[in-house]
Amino acid sequence: MARRWTALPPLRTTGSRLDLEVSTVAVTTPVTEPAVEDPWRNAQRQFDAAADLLELDTGVRGFLREVQRQLIVNFPVRMDDGSIRMFEGYRVQHNLTRGPTKGGIRYHSQVTLSEVKALAMWMTWKCAVAGLPFGGAKGGVVVDPKRLSMAERERLTRRYAAEISVLIGPERDIPAPDVNTTSREMAWIMDTVSMSAGYSVPAVVTGKPLSVGGSQGRNAATGRGVAVVARLACQRLGRDPADQTVAVQGFGNAGTFAARLMAEEGFRICAVSDTGGAIHSDHGLDVAAVIEHKRRTGTVAGFPGTLDLAGGDILEAPVDILVPAALENQITARNAGRVQASLILEAANGPTTPDADEILARRGITVVPDIVANAGGVTVSYFEWVQDLQSFFWEEPEINRRLEHVMTGAFQASWDTSVRLGVPLRLGAYAVAVQRVAEATADRGIYP
Ligand code: NAD
Repeated sequence: MARRWTALPPLRTTGSRLDLEVSTVAVTTPVTEPAVEDPWRNAQRQFDAAADLLELDTGVRGFLREVQRQLIVNFPVRMDDGSIRMFEGYRVQHNLTRGPTKGGIRYHSQVTLSEVKALAMWMTWKCAVAGLPFGGAKGGVVVDPKRLSMAERERLTRRYAAEISVLIGPERDIPAPDVNTTSREMAWIMDTVSMSAGYSVPAVVTGKPLSVGGSQGRNAATGRGVAVVARLACQRLGRDPADQTVAVQGFGNAGTFAARLMAEEGFRICAVSDTGGAIHSDHGLDVAAVIEHKRRTGTVAGFPGTLDLAGGDILEAPVDILVPAALENQITARNAGRVQASLILEAANGPTTPDADEILARRGITVVPDIVANAGGVTVSYFEWVQDLQSFFWEEPEINRRLEHVMTGAFQASWDTSVRLGVPLRLGAYAVAVQRVAEATADRGIYP
């Protein structure tokens, strides 16, 4: 690793160990720029490429190219000061052919129906490539949850759950956490649905606390899956994890566990970021200590002994492996030419636009796509749902062993297909997934 951080300041330094660090940094595009690309169009473009490759029947293509159901809800929430505020939320089911639908719920001020539709479609392909018996769904509420008190957050969650209860249920559609939602929100949704049913309905959501039917290993599952895929990709590329430096954009559920578990696999995590900033150390970060720093201060920025960077720099960091683990549309046509990593593991959903994908492919950069790289979360959600339905719970080693098995199957099927067809890994993964959903569609037939 002879590469260095290039351009310069303004450089803000923190901590007393700065003099031990290499005083070079990269400064380029700010990461928080608004998403200019329509995620739904991008999702359809990715699907079209797979449909073309598979020479999919026109009728089936038309069916899989749209979402089956989309619900928009506008609902009131009583705020702590007694006022009533209106919120808009969505629940979208992309495809119900292979089973009930599955997908997280996102709270974010920039959630749009287009974004939720794209996320729902990606869930369909993810479940299919992982061989899970689900279709794809997603939900979202347009809200900045940081501006809500805990009581307001609970009332919003319960009311949103009641509004989308016409769609969700253990046999129909099973939500899970996504950006800015956690096991706490899942417990409230489970309770809201259970109160209306008159009995406990744990299987209506996954990612719950263990006390109400959550699964061992669910919290870490997305990151654990990323770490498995990192190891498998390195095997295929003939790389030793101990020689690999890593940058992780986004330090929430997916990012922290990916960083921690990749570090345990021997990878050197050199840079991480969140909305508060980005930090870097050539020597590698003590991930557990960064997690503790974030727990105390709310951000990774200012971690002692590191260089603070402008947020966008992390995508262009001089590392071997880049793990985008924040939001979609981060690697675009504008910055793809400056990405220095030669392997990208998409822990986030949709972080790379199709235009950027073409640039990365031309540059020989391997991208393990979201539908494979972050499938660990939905895989252990599937295990949680199965455990809830049978009221029989497994130990964590069992969960992790099964997770490894599913991730390996999804990765290998995608890699082998991409090699066989001579296409990038994303297209290989899509070919596997779309083929499976198309086959299920053909086997079921078109009703009536
Ligand atoms: P989270 O809310 O726990 O964390 C998101 C993190 O991203 C936060 O640290 C936030 O500060 C950071 N972030 C947001 N915008 C950023 C930016 N512009 N630059 C740098 N950091 C930024 O969310 P999460 O559950 O970790 O989800 C992250 C991504 O992973 C999303 O795309 C989500 O859909 C995907 N994902 C999550 C799961 C899961 O199980 N949680 C599963 C599969 C995929």
